[in-house]
Amino acid sequence: MPIATVNPANGETLKTFDPLGAEEIERRLATAEAAFRTYRTTDFAERARLLNRAADLLEQDQQDIARTMTTEMGKPIAAARAEAAKCVKAMRWYARNAEELLADEHPSPADVKDAGASRATVHYRPLGVILAVMPWNFPLWQVVRFMAPALMAGNVGLLKHASNVPQTALYLEDLIRRAGYPEGCFQTLLVGAGAVEGILRDPRVAAATLTGSEPAGRSVAAIAGDEVKKTVLELGGSDPFVVMPSADIDQAARTAVTARVQNNGQSCIAAKRFIVHTDVYDAFTERFTARMQELTVGDPMHDATDVGPLATEQGRADVEALVDDALSHGARVLCGAQRPEGLEQGWYYAPTVLAGITDSMRIHREEAFGPVATLYRVTDVDEAVALANDSPFGLSSNVWTRDEAEVRRFVRDLEAGGVFFNGMTASHPALPFGGVKRSGYGRELSGHGIREFCNTTTVWHG
Ligand code: NDP
Repeated sequence: MPIATVNPANGETLKTFDPLGAEEIERRLATAEAAFRTYRTTDFAERARLLNRAADLLEQDQQDIARTMTTEMGKPIAAARAEAAKCVKAMRWYARNAEELLADEHPSPADVKDAGASRATVHYRPLGVILAVMPWNFPLWQVVRFMAPALMAGNVGLLKHASNVPQTALYLEDLIRRAGYPEGCFQTLLVGAGAVEGILRDPRVAAATLTGSEPAGRSVAAIAGDEVKKTVLELGGSDPFVVMPSADIDQAARTAVTARVQNNGQSCIAAKRFIVHTDVYDAFTERFTARMQELTVGDPMHDATDVGPLATEQGRADVEALVDDALSHGARVLCGAQRPEGLEQGWYYAPTVLAGITDSMRIHREEAFGPVATLYRVTDVDEAVALANDSPFGLSSNVWTRDEAEVRRFVRDLEAGGVFFNGMTASHPALPFGGVKRSGYGRELSGHGIREFCNTTTVWHG
């Protein structure tokens, strides 16, 4: 994949970049290692000052960076602005909370004595240079949710961003530089996926985090495993959205639309499989389908647009292939399943609802990374749980119910890293984020996220 900005709204190549050569990669690795040696000794107050400064600059840049993101990957401009604001919030949250999240732990006096110590503490020390392999779908947020805790923990970062968001990637490096961080604390490497192995195997790189597809995650994890380096993986998802009879059906249908088409349908935590109790199936389906049809599809630079183009031509082709496969196995189209008229230049796809899904269809098991919803009818809570878990993925889940017994049942049994009741999955700096099964492992955000790339050190005094 060439490193280039290609506008998905019209297919126009706006800017191309040469990948870094071996010498330049080497220079940046050396710079990162040197930066870590001193940056790791800074105190929390200094790290917080720098991160808050970066947050202030990002806040000032919000309009410009939002336009860059929309140009590079097609998300509606209002969502791009919201993404930038969310990053500012997360940076300030970690600047404020990191010291407490990484405070020394003190085992109980009885346990200290039992361990034969006069004193014992647990310290969270930084790990070193962390490689972040990141996707294009939330080109700012995916990076910031790694970068903010990593820098607050005293680590330094190397970013290998997706090849279709190079200007956003360069912006991030520049933001950190302008905030006054020492040289090398956060560098963008404009390289293709093929260069990742060499960088990851370099002894100066301590660990890696990857957000993206399963094949990319598998590859990075295998190399890191071979090198005995820690990884955090946030891969795909096919989150269930369960609607039970006690739910507020109108609100559920309204939220279901947002949960499915957010980011033009290209979100790992988008609700993708809608599992609806038979008692409310018709009412939910009617409202949901009507609202999906009413969405405004068009130029993502317009504030009124709900759904813009898919980020890449290949991404649209992948979605079309999933829908075609479902239709050839008997799925029914309630709306969409085609390219919208009048938008032939860009990589648009109409909001789509499919019913009659069976396990012979690829879409039952694979992630639909576009505005395509699949509907299932179930007769009770057992069937809902079984169907929700009948996926290789386990990122998050959504359940609409007011029944407390059902709440307990879903919390106990859903195979996912999150269970969101009467709302849609969203990330927040204070809440851990990540999945199980093929959705990956490890957690981002909260105290769990910042401690992933720390050396948890036992300090024992005889
Ligand atoms: P990829 O997983 O290919 O891209 C994500 C990042 O990984 C990019 O920086 C990419 O670099 C890099 N990468 C890709 N392959 C490798 C590899 N073998 N070794 C190291 N790094 C690699 O996602 P795509 O853009 O191709 O999207 C394909 C599918 O992935 C989507 O349809 C969706 O299902 C899933 N996906 C999930 C995301 C999520 O948020 N969980 C985000 C994006 C995609 P480069 O761009 O240079 O190829």
